[in-house]
Amino acid sequence: MKIGFIGLGNMGAPMAANLAAAGHRVAGFDVAGATATGVTAAATAAEAAAGVDVVITMLPNGDILRQVAAQVIPAMDAGALLLDCSTVDVDSARAVADLAQASGCLAVDAPVSGGIGGAAAGTLTFMAGGSDAGFSKAEPLFDIMGQKAVHCGDAGAGQAAKICNNMILGVTMIATCEAFALADKLGLDRQKMFDVVSTSSGYSWTMNAYCPAPGVGPQSPADNGYEPGFAAELMLKDLGLSQQAAQSADADTPMGQLAMALYQTFVEHEDGKGRDFSAMLPRFMARTRG
Ligand code: NAD
Repeated sequence: MKIGFIGLGNMGAPMAANLAAAGHRVAGFDVAGATATGVTAAATAAEAAAGVDVVITMLPNGDILRQVAAQVIPAMDAGALLLDCSTVDVDSARAVADLAQASGCLAVDAPVSGGIGGAAAGTLTFMAGGSDAGFSKAEPLFDIMGQKAVHCGDAGAGQAAKICNNMILGVTMIATCEAFALADKLGLDRQKMFDVVSTSSGYSWTMNAYCPAPGVGPQSPADNGYEPGFAAELMLKDLGLSQQAAQSADADTPMGQLAMALYQTFVEHEDGKGRDFSAMLPRFMARTRG
């Protein structure tokens, strides 16, 4: 296929390189002048989008996605697919899909999980929203960039799945960290705490697979000085998107709201920026109830 790839950052560059390595003709554009292995540099986003089968975007947020979509959609052929893999708000995903459809293009929102490691290894998970025709067109590309793709529903459904999942993740990480901090103060050995909880009703991905206590459970960022991993500021971004969606859909999400407030304080006023999101554990350890 001929592919235009817009946004060659930490995630986009390795994803574009994997598509080129698999034999697709990829033209890339990034405002910062970034490039990717095997990818031809285009002078503008519109140039990367002209005459291609699929335009992929991997951008920081919904406002930038809307700007880029307004530039690329008029340049795209009818029937071409706009595949947005960024994590953005549901409203922007739906607005961009409407714009694409109005000019005869297909649109799929397909945010990812798996991080920079998954992007480089081609093992991302895609959560996709859009028509069957759009999903089918994207599927061979999902197979190259990832190991799993779930078609979640119509436009915006991929973003909805991503932010609901990450809201659970943020809330659960905080619950796991505050429970470890309480266990410490009660004199409970961390390994015993792990042995019990990881096989009892308090188990979760944050306890069993990504334990925030160093030296306990499988290897995780806690064993590497809380180097991300998944940075606290990215968790804050996703919790912000879930709260924006909850506001827009009139959903009551008090735990998500509190998790966002805690990560906001952690990132903006404590030492959370640049640390893994599991560094909430030392944060709770350093605090008292009063
Ligand atoms: P990044 O900041 O490294 O990359 C974004 C790129 O977009 C940058 O290179 C930037 O120059 C470029 N860009 C900005 N405005 C542009 C424009 N108008 N035209 C063209 N290019 C433009 O971010 P990233 O880590 O690659 O993340 C990309 C997206 O993936 C985000 O939405 C993020 O939330 C999501 N995501 C990231 C991770 C992760 O671990 N990094 C994991 C899952 C999802």
